[in-house]
Amino acid sequence: MIMNGRLIYDCTFEELKDILVGMGEKPFRAGQIFKWVYEGVSSFDEMTNISKPLRQKLAEVFTFDGVRFIKSSGSMKGNSEKLLLALSDMHTVESVLMRHEYGVSLCVSSQVGCKMHCAFCASGADGYVRNLTAGEIIAQVMYANKMLAENGEGKVSMLVFMGSGEPFDNFENVIKSIKIMHSPEGLNIGYRNFTISTSGLVEGIYSLAREELPINLSISLHAPDDELRKELMPIAKRHTIKELIEASSFYFNATGRRVTMEYLLIKDVTDTVEKAKQLASLLKHTGFHVNLIPYNEVEGLPYVRSSPSRINTFMDILKERTVNATCRDSLGKDINAACGQLKRGYVGN
Ligand code: SAH
Repeated sequence: MIMNGRLIYDCTFEELKDILVGMGEKPFRAGQIFKWVYEGVSSFDEMTNISKPLRQKLAEVFTFDGVRFIKSSGSMKGNSEKLLLALSDMHTVESVLMRHEYGVSLCVSSQVGCKMHCAFCASGADGYVRNLTAGEIIAQVMYANKMLAENGEGKVSMLVFMGSGEPFDNFENVIKSIKIMHSPEGLNIGYRNFTISTSGLVEGIYSLAREELPINLSISLHAPDDELRKELMPIAKRHTIKELIEASSFYFNATGRRVTMEYLLIKDVTDTVEKAKQLASLLKHTGFHVNLIPYNEVEGLPYVRSSPSRINTFMDILKERTVNATCRDSLGKDINAACGQLKRGYVGN
């Protein structure tokens, strides 16, 4: 069983300092303790420059048990690995570790399940359970770092919020987790190395812009017109594509960070020549980058992945019309990397 106690990763540096001062300790201890925590120790006993009585006191207040490993599935190419992790209440979330030439990135979950109910997505299909705390988001990274260290590999240096959940539906905790991971006393990851992906919560985009942090933004557009988008994504009933594009431009102007439009390629639904032309005229002159994602099929859902020739044609149409597009090498296909798929396999077993 996972021990009770406050998850140590839920504490900002300042909060830890206050707690220590409240215990009658000197504030500089916070720096020593934070350093140990983010170097990846899993107990206070490993903190050799901290007195034993203080270590014991801290162990009564805090826990390191954010996530427990359940199972993983690796890709054939060996460069990505999907992890199924259990939280303290035994709900499970997924994280995907991706090894690139330029470093290791981790795709993290921000909620157990999701409220957005996109028609094509496994996470939404299973319903919403709860938000993750900031510490539970960080715990996914700390677990990945531990795994990497065991293999003699480097640490996670880039984070994408593309696991299960809608990050802007858990705004406070997501931002808190990013600030802790960014802090020099924490993991010291630059804001430019974080990407938040949203299904299109317009108010969340403006809120993030107000934070004035150079975080990358990805928008799950997936359709070039409101009619099709409403069929695929219920959020499209709340905000039009026009509102979404306005908010994205505002974000770009406020932060200078590139905004990426994610576009799923689903056979005969989103991947036709007509849709490609519509998408090109929608995004021409906006400066947004388009990332085409070949759909990962989900058991029980009717959607089918586009063929490679359809994908190429779609890409060519965008390029001819000077829309900047790339196609995500679907690292995930052979590891069930689409949202919620590994979890489904597990829950269903
Ligand atoms: N809720 C956020 C982030 C999580 S989903 C969002 O919607 O952006 C991360 C991305 O994976 C989104 O673009 C989502 O639409 C996409 N996705 C969901 N199911 C998928 C599937 N079966 N195949 C490929 N991409 C999928």
